[in-house]
Amino acid sequence: MLHVAVVGSGPSGVYTAQSLVQSGLPELRVDVLDRLPCPYGLVRYGVAPDHEKIKSLQNNLRAVLEDERVRFLGGVQVGPDGLPTARLRELYHAVVYCVGAATDRHLGVPGEELSGSWSATEFVSWYSAHPDSVTDGFALGARSAVVIGVGNVAVDVTRMLARGAAELSPTDMPQTALTALAASKVTEISMVGRRGPSQARFTTKELRELGSLPDTEVVVDPEELTLDPEYVDPSALPAAQRRNVEVLRGWAAAPPQDRARRIRLRFFLRPVELLADDDACGSGSEGAAVSAVRFERTVPDGRGGVTGTGRYEDIEAQLVLRSVGYRGVPLEGLPFDAEHGTVPHLAGRVLREGVVAPGEYVAGWIKRGPTGVIGTNRPCAKETVASLLEDAPELVRREVPADPLAALRAAGVAPVEWAGWEAIERAEAELGASLGRGVVKLPDWTSLLAAARAGGCSVAASVSVSRRSGASPS
Ligand code: NAP
Repeated sequence: MLHVAVVGSGPSGVYTAQSLVQSGLPELRVDVLDRLPCPYGLVRYGVAPDHEKIKSLQNNLRAVLEDERVRFLGGVQVGPDGLPTARLRELYHAVVYCVGAATDRHLGVPGEELSGSWSATEFVSWYSAHPDSVTDGFALGARSAVVIGVGNVAVDVTRMLARGAAELSPTDMPQTALTALAASKVTEISMVGRRGPSQARFTTKELRELGSLPDTEVVVDPEELTLDPEYVDPSALPAAQRRNVEVLRGWAAAPPQDRARRIRLRFFLRPVELLADDDACGSGSEGAAVSAVRFERTVPDGRGGVTGTGRYEDIEAQLVLRSVGYRGVPLEGLPFDAEHGTVPHLAGRVLREGVVAPGEYVAGWIKRGPTGVIGTNRPCAKETVASLLEDAPELVRREVPADPLAALRAAGVAPVEWAGWEAIERAEAELGASLGRGVVKLPDWTSLLAAARAGGCSVAASVSVSRRSGASPS
């Protein structure tokens, strides 16, 4: 019997479990551990609530976690505040770390910490009901918001800021976030890229969706777009970027419309400072609120990058969402490549000082960095599982406990098992029904664990919850 632990129940973790059970290995048990009591990682806590089709991927992931050879063990923190990685290695023949990229990148400019300036991750966690989310709300009394970055997360948060109550109410977003967003006064949202439109990271489907939001106009400045030579002549661009350019050209040619909200797509502007309301030329005192973002105009350098021009533009904003990508964090006991925010590996096998560490593997964002869509995790997980299966004859020689769960319990860990998760799902359906909505997510640890307990799950105080903010493992 090969016992494998997969740490993280997001797409990369579940696709790893799927590849394992599809391998045809007859004697196999897979435990999928997650520090949260709920499975699915960024599919539950990252995919925007109005993207129901992508969210429905949960059904595919669910089928894997319900396989008789797979067990979901939620509420298990691996690392210094919980189960040490060294102990985990003793309990299983192999451990696959699928812990994602749990924090956000920083801009490194003055004023980044001003009140009203948030990482997009914090905003996403809030409207996704992540139990570690900061709950004191966002400056939605603001008139103007600036979103820094032009990736798909930037598009998600821009769209969520522009949506009204009627569109948000059918989603599973928590009631507090729905109420706050429904009352939002934000009418101007500027989404700003430091490079040109042909280099933006968003995908065309997501970009196009901005143009179909009710009562919202997308505004682009044709002159700014033409600073990009590949916007002017897109013939050499890959198809995906060419499609983006076509969508932008359509908006550039459209006559102005009189709509309640405007999304301004801006390019060739790099953020240099966030300005405080009482301070037109500096970041101001601690606790001061942001009032604008100062950008430097950039121009293409001919090599895919940009150079500054020494000309500046301030864009008004009482709310700033910094959406400049995720970053992996080191896990105690595992090697870490600080430059890339990943664990060094060879085809998924963890490398310690350049040498393969037997029985330790990685998949997903902690393996390859925070890129790609959900489906990208499937081949990534397959590669890792192929390495693991190659090593399996050697790995099973080591003795491990017959049932790692008993050993986990003996160590004081009381996981939320599948029945506990199903109880959480029932509680969320009941909450939604009581509010006259569909399923509504429970937004905090107390209600999640109470629901799991009501389902007969003996979640103990040992669900040592580290209340870190940020994205859940992917
Ligand atoms: P991303 O795609 O890497 O985009 C990051 C953006 O931030 C880029 O525009 C980047 O510009 C900009 N940026 C980075 N550092 C900056 C700085 N110092 N100043 C100004 N701008 C800066 O990251 P993401 O949007 O967080 O997405 C992460 C992954 O999740 C992506 O693979 C994405 O496709 C995926 N995702 C997919 C969906 C979907 O399919 N619907 C939804 C959400 C996320 P440069 O290009 O100039 O570096």
